[in-house]
Amino acid sequence: MSGAGETGAILTLNAGSSSIKFAIFDVATDGALRAWRRGELREDGAGQRFRVKGADGELLADEAWAQSGFEASLEHLLARLDGELHGRHLAGIGHRVVHGGAGHRTPEEVTPELLDLLGSLAELAPLHVPHNLAPIREIARTRPGIRQVVCFDTAFHRTMPAVATRFALPREFERRGIRRYGFHGLSYEYVSRRLAVVSPQVHGGRVIAAHLGNGASMCGLRGGESLDTTMGFTALDGLVMGTRCGALDPGALLHLMRWEGLSIDETERLLYTRAGLLGLSGISNDMRVLLERAEPAAAEAVEVFVHRIVRETGALASVLGGLDGFVFTAGIGENAPEIRERICARLGWLGVRLDPAANAAGAQVISAADSVVEVRVIPTDEEAMIAEHVRDLPAS
Ligand code: AMP
Repeated sequence: MSGAGETGAILTLNAGSSSIKFAIFDVATDGALRAWRRGELREDGAGQRFRVKGADGELLADEAWAQSGFEASLEHLLARLDGELHGRHLAGIGHRVVHGGAGHRTPEEVTPELLDLLGSLAELAPLHVPHNLAPIREIARTRPGIRQVVCFDTAFHRTMPAVATRFALPREFERRGIRRYGFHGLSYEYVSRRLAVVSPQVHGGRVIAAHLGNGASMCGLRGGESLDTTMGFTALDGLVMGTRCGALDPGALLHLMRWEGLSIDETERLLYTRAGLLGLSGISNDMRVLLERAEPAAAEAVEVFVHRIVRETGALASVLGGLDGFVFTAGIGENAPEIRERICARLGWLGVRLDPAANAAGAQVISAADSVVEVRVIPTDEEAMIAEHVRDLPAS
């Protein structure tokens, strides 16, 4: 049943290799969005697991079944979501697509021609883009009347100046698309828009946003726009992540392949799934687990994680020409006061002074009153950002 003052609903899908996250937003007549359902379909060794939460985070459904296979699971998900709409008119479906290449710099409505073009981008992000596109193709086939919009995780970084996008390779490689793109764009765009509301002056200045989750990156923003970021051609570069290595001397790759005999596939698996916090600790990719464990390797992994963030903060602050604000977001950034404290303790030279009580309490502003840099925690919401784009993109 549609509530008073609502014009319809927007569904967002964020499809990865083993899960599809979704959300349903109500769109009020004044355009305001309200998340009405959030959930996930996840495939694990045992089969499929489907969970849905309501507007206040209450668990509404938690089902598991043995069936596997993408089409069957997606069909199950769509049928369930039809029910979850409770009669609301579906105004459109928004999708996160990890890589837009150089040519896709804003959200776009899906057409058969666009789908073909995006298919050719899969080679830029072979572990992600095919998963992102699969539900779009399936919905276009089985529900051709529904409007679909794609939102690229690279698009927010379109404002990076050319100097920040270039590798020092012969220029012909740049023409073939080998350049820095940056990722986590939907998260940074959301955080930037929130910052414009809660702290317009800082938003207008020089800000570093740190998206610290299982994937992790940082972005230097000036006037709310991306100026530089730690991820590059792929989402492997930059910070230490849950299972990804972050910045690595390319010479080490050559060595691994030449002298350790690793194949391309083995190297890919090593860098994406066996490295990062998991590789360093030999215990877990999960920061919560590492903070609880007493083994020296757990502490050492956390130390490298923090070290790289501090190092990249110096680099981004130099590119920005100073620092007015620092924003923590994503799983670790939002929930791990100990990590925030350890990072801030090493940024005193930049004018960062933490308020330990505010940090421990999870306040929105965690810097002390006399801190030169305003430090905030802003929970990210990539789904809300996708829904905003679906709402705002004029129908073609
Ligand atoms: P995300 O990818 O944004 O969902 O973030 C996942 C990461 O956040 C994992 O490493 C979790 O261990 C970490 N995380 C979530 N909650 C906490 C917490 N309370 N303390 C420390 N780390 C946390």
